[in-house]
Amino acid sequence: AIPLVVARSTSLGASRGLLVKNREALELATKADVMILDKTGTLTTGEFKVLNAETLSKIYSTDEVLALMVGIEGGSSHPIAQSIVGYAENKRVKPINFDSIDVVSGAGVEGETNGHRYELISQKAFGQKIEFDVPKGATVSYLVEEGKVIGAVALGDELKATSKELMNVLKSQGIKPIMATGDNEKAAKGVAEELGIEYRANQSPQDKYDLVESLKNEGKTVIMVGDGVNDAPSLALADVGVAIGAGTQVALDSADVILTQSDPGDIESFIELANKTTRKMR
Ligand code: ADP
Ligand code: MG
Repeated sequence: AIPLVVARSTSLGASRGLLVKNREALELATKADVMILDKTGTLTTGEFKVLNAETLSKIYSTDEVLALMVGIEGGSSHPIAQSIVGYAENKRVKPINFDSIDVVSGAGVEGETNGHRYELISQKAFGQKIEFDVPKGATVSYLVEEGKVIGAVALGDELKATSKELMNVLKSQGIKPIMATGDNEKAAKGVAEELGIEYRANQSPQDKYDLVESLKNEGKTVIMVGDGVNDAPSLALADVGVAIGAGTQVALDSADVILTQSDPGDIESFIELANKTTRKMR
């Protein structure tokens, strides 16, 4: 049976947008050494704005490239997909229909139309440096046709209001924050510097998992916070997995704690709750 003190505290927690699925998470959280945080949708709003979308091809116009981008994003529920769709609608660009689309977790989307293979993916996933004027701190994805880049889109995202304060709270509690993101080096560096924390850029879902594993192997107690499919493996492996917001079902299933309001400030409440209940139990 769940000790009454925990039961009461967890339901208290629930009223603040905090759902504790696994009560052991409360005790482990009081011993935490490191907190790994995803960037997009976790520390930032994930409400991207398209800053710039253009052709990098002599054959296709920018509108044609955009039509391919919206078409292929039809298969994705990533926040980037929504912003590209909105941007194209504004420009009255109609999507090109795709015959098949697959999501590449933590990298982008790929699909086929007109007998050609297309990808809309991160710089890291593409693997080559491309001449494209990237606005400071922007997230960039490339449109690739049969292995050749034909377009690029740069998107801007903003920090959530409570992200910075959370970093100060963590540091005062002796919990070291590290941001781990699938995004490019420049975008990651911009956000990490604003928050004054360490970071790892270009992280695949496997890289995030490996990071949690290596810290655990060093004997550290690790809290992982994330929102996406790409975070699910590391959420499950961490001592405490915290899923933030509406996120994705897989992330919710893999987590011990769910923050229903998408608010990093609720991580502070969770740590407080953990400290209170664990003290009472002893
Ligand atoms: P994070 O780890 O910060 O949550 P993601 O793993 O969601 O970031 O995405 C990593 C990178 O992959 C993004 O910065 C973007 O460049 C690219 N990407 C992911 N999904 C999409 C998509 N649907 N369309 C275009 N690019 C995408
Ligand atoms: Mg994310």
